[in-house]
Order: sequence, then C-alpha cells, then structure tokens
Amino acid sequence: MTSPAYAVINLDALRHNLQIVRKFAPNAKIMPVIKANAYGHGMFRVASALQSADAFAVARVDEGVRLRKAGITNIITVLEGFSCVNELEAILAYQLDTVVHSFTQLSMFEARPELNACSIWLKLDTGMNRLGFKAEEFITAFQRLKHCSLIKGPINLMTHLANADITQDTTTLKQIALFNDTITTLFADQTIESKVSCACSIANSAGILAWPISLTDWVRPGIMLYGISPFPENTGEYWQLKPVMGLHSRLIAVKPLLKGDKVGYSGTWTCTKPTQLGIVAIGYGDGYPRHAKAGTPVLVNGQRVPLIGRVSMDMITVDLESQPMAMPGDSVTLWGNDLAIEEIAQCADTIPYTLVCGITQRVRIIEHSSTI
Ligand SMILES: *Cc1c(COP(=O)(O)O)cnc(C)c1O
Repeated sequence: MTSPAYAVINLDALRHNLQIVRKFAPNAKIMPVIKANAYGHGMFRVASALQSADAFAVARVDEGVRLRKAGITNIITVLEGFSCVNELEAILAYQLDTVVHSFTQLSMFEARPELNACSIWLKLDTGMNRLGFKAEEFITAFQRLKHCSLIKGPINLMTHLANADITQDTTTLKQIALFNDTITTLFADQTIESKVSCACSIANSAGILAWPISLTDWVRPGIMLYGISPFPENTGEYWQLKPVMGLHSRLIAVKPLLKGDKVGYSGTWTCTKPTQLGIVAIGYGDGYPRHAKAGTPVLVNGQRVPLIGRVSMDMITVDLESQPMAMPGDSVTLWGNDLAIEEIAQCADTIPYTLVCGITQRVRIIEHSSTI
C-alpha cells in the first residue's frame, strides 16, 4: 500500500533550470544551493542530477558531510561555516569549503597547525546584518587569514543580498557598491596576484535574474533551480523556469451538503448553497499549508476548484460545483505544472520556499527523468 499523497520531482526540469542560470550568468561559475534537503526536493537526488555544477552550497556542516559520505566529489561550500571545534574537524576531514564570517571562527583557524587544508570564502556583511564582517573589520580579517597556514589557495570574497527580490529597492545597489568599494580598498593594500586570484560571489536567484551588476565570478542560485520565481510579482514561467516539484493526491470521498451545513474543524465554512463537497487526502501532515485560505485553487482532474473550510492534518475539502462528475479516486494536484506554487503561497500568506521545504516524510517521492 502506498500513500495517496505524492510529490513528483522532475529532474529534467531541474537541469533545464540550470541552463536558465547559465543563460543569465554565462560567464559565472555556478554553485547550486542545495541546503535544507535541496529545498525539500532531496539533496542527494539533486546533487546527483546536477553533477556538472562547478560546486554545491549547503547551509550546515552536517549537510556537507552527508553529501561526501554519499560520494559527491564536487566542491561543497558551507554557507554558515563552522561554529564549534567538532564542525571545524569535520570540514577538514571531509574536505569542505567554508565561509568565514566571524572573529571567533578566525581564532579557531589560527589555532590550527595544518598546512593548506581548507579553502574559504571570506564574507562581508553589506547590510543584511546577519553573517559577515563589517567593512571596517574586513581588511584586518583578510590579513589575519593570509597568515593562517590552514588556508589553501586564494581567499575568496562574498556577500549576500537582503532585498534583491524587491526590484525597485535600491538597497541592493548600495550593498553591491559597498562590496566593490571594500574590495577596491583591500586590494589597494595588497599585491596584484591576490587581486587576480581571489574569486568573488554576490548573486542569489533574485540577483541572477534582476540585478546583472551583481554577477561576478560565482553565482549561488537556490529557488530558481527549483523552477520558482524569487519575486512576489511573477512566477517561474515568466523566467522560462520549469517547476521541479509537483504535489499530488486524490479524492477519497464526495458528498452532497445542504445550504447551511458547516465544513471542517470549528465549522469555519458554512455552505451558502447546496454543495457537492470533495475530500482530498492531503493536509498539513504532508506539508500542505494550514493557512491556505478558502478559495485557494486546487486541481481536480486538471480543473480548478476552490478549497473551502480549514486545512486539517490529513485532509482538505473542496467545492466540486464545477466538477459534478468527480469521484473518489480522481486525481488532485496541489501545485506543479498547471498550478503555480507561487499562487498557492500567496493564498497561504507565505512564500514558496516554505512550501517546498515543508514537504513531510509521509509524502511519497516519484522521480521523473528522461535520462538515467
Ligand atoms: C539560501 C542562500 C542562497 C540562495 O538563495 P535563493 O534565494 O534561494 O536563490 C544564496 N546565498 C546564500 C548565502 C544563501 O543562504
């Protein structure tokens, strides 16, 4: 017996989306971001499908270790870096590249005697105020790192954009200007060789698509690889991206209700007319958003019908007025090719990132790929 709720992961779409990254950033090396189980799509599956990538990025050390243990040999960058000695040991043992963003990490580096053991990205905080050195600390950090025997190769330089998904917001231009100015100041102090060999990286998906001046040596696409637009005003289709995840289930019951009948927990929905109700086997226990409002579109046999009543753990309810012939067993799509996840996210007052990341263990995964 298999679960009625399943997600199809389309690896052809994933590879297509990598080509779209290449189209927007033809001169950059690409570091697909596969943190958080590749945004819910399966980290090993995605890494295996994108083996041609120049590197992968994960958030945590343990994610990188699991990729290495699974036999992934690409460069792996740990975006949060290490936060204790054990994690630093793992970075060295499993040959992971790490972001260095704090003096705490720097001191841990300085305490290690090994030679040329680890490649790094030195992170500048250009205004997000999350991770990274401040501009005024950056040269000190760079110079101290240059004297660390542990570091292999040049010190690569990066920052992260906070507002790139808001295309009119000039914060992004200020962040990029601060990054460029800081590097110019840094290299005014340094030799030409270090300037030539240090790689830079700024752009996430929103940077790649909307901010060409954020394109440098390396780009770090996440959400766009999964076929999803980072912008609130459009969907992946606008950028010629293809959805990688489709979420599906089926109708498990159909029943006629009378005007005045209430539906679901707390009876938040009252029928204003005789209603043919469909019950679908999907709920927040599968990762369908509990806050999806009445009216959120659902596809039954490929046709849109509205969600009504509260989303519960295992089920949702829909109004089958436009689908009077629908029967138990009929197929239901919650998001995917013909129903943009961006639209569902808006109906649930969230962003598509949380929907794909939130798919639970109970959902059966079916891989789709035309090449093996
Ligand atoms: C998650 C992350 C990305 C990818 O962001 P998207 O918006 O998914 O493209 C890039 N860089 C860093 C540092 C990140 O944490």
